[in-house]
Amino acid sequence: MAKLVKEKSEKGRLHIDTPMMGESLVSKEFLRQTESREYFRMHPDINVLKIGGQSIMDRGGEAIRPILEVLRQAKEEYKILLMTGGGTRARHVYNIGVDLGMPTGVLSKLGDKVAWQNAEMLSVLLSKHGGVKIDNGDNLEQLTMFCRLGYLPITYGIPPYGLFEHPAEYGSIPPHRTDCGAFLLAENIGARRLIYLKDEQWLYESDPKKTPEEERNNIKHYDRISARELQALDLDDLIIERPIVHMLQRAKCISELQIIDALNHPEHILSALQGDHVGTIIYKDQEEAEE
Ligand code: ADP
Ligand code: MG
Repeated sequence: MAKLVKEKSEKGRLHIDTPMMGESLVSKEFLRQTESREYFRMHPDINVLKIGGQSIMDRGGEAIRPILEVLRQAKEEYKILLMTGGGTRARHVYNIGVDLGMPTGVLSKLGDKVAWQNAEMLSVLLSKHGGVKIDNGDNLEQLTMFCRLGYLPITYGIPPYGLFEHPAEYGSIPPHRTDCGAFLLAENIGARRLIYLKDEQWLYESDPKKTPEEERNNIKHYDRISARELQALDLDDLIIERPIVHMLQRAKCISELQIIDALNHPEHILSALQGDHVGTIIYKDQEEAEE
């Protein structure tokens, strides 16, 4: 992409001759030229951890306390942004909204309050260890500063689309919920790692909780899978929100994410932070990056 050209006219006025002038910003050929060889990473040391609403928070103190203890330790060594999910209460409000025929963007506005409540709870629980709830719109440029000062910033995962939420492919539930919010933020701040704290260690071929117990050991699981392969599998159900599979293929900064079982193995949080492979890793295909 050509550099910005600044020229002074005879009268001394500054004329800006920008290569984007006259472009619709829609042309595929033009847009390809805007690809950067290397994208700027705002917070390259921050690790984005998304704690599940249904998978963790809804299970109460027994599930949450051991995770908080690990986070307290982890924060001494790693810079962490904790993002929260909604869970059962969000599902209930979606259910009422769906019953009333509410549009997707309204449902999105309803669901974010629940994730907000979970962020509030965690910030209270972690307050004496530096937990601080921040809004997910403002001040995100200050994340590294917060962490350097010893804070553990916590925010809610729903991306601030509100009434601008995209229409869903199936039905009306907002397709970009808290898993997507964590992905989008991690990508745009150029985060170090993106880790999903859930209650299953793997992405399986099908939801283990909907499979009879005696058959669970036979379900195929994926140790490492590329986003493109996963998309091609077109599984009916997934452990993370579906748009992530598509977005990861286009990501500029995030090259992989890991899903871990923080419910049964809170210690896996530390392992994943140090780069160990303890759950399913979904990665961006390299060829995709070179295209
Ligand atoms: P969270 O609260 O972390 O967003 P969810 O309950 O929304 O968690 O999603 C995690 C759940 O997804 C798991 O507990 C599991 O029962 C379910 N799930 C659905 N499909 C799969 C799959 N293919 N592999 C693994 N888990 C799956
Ligand atoms: Mg979920």
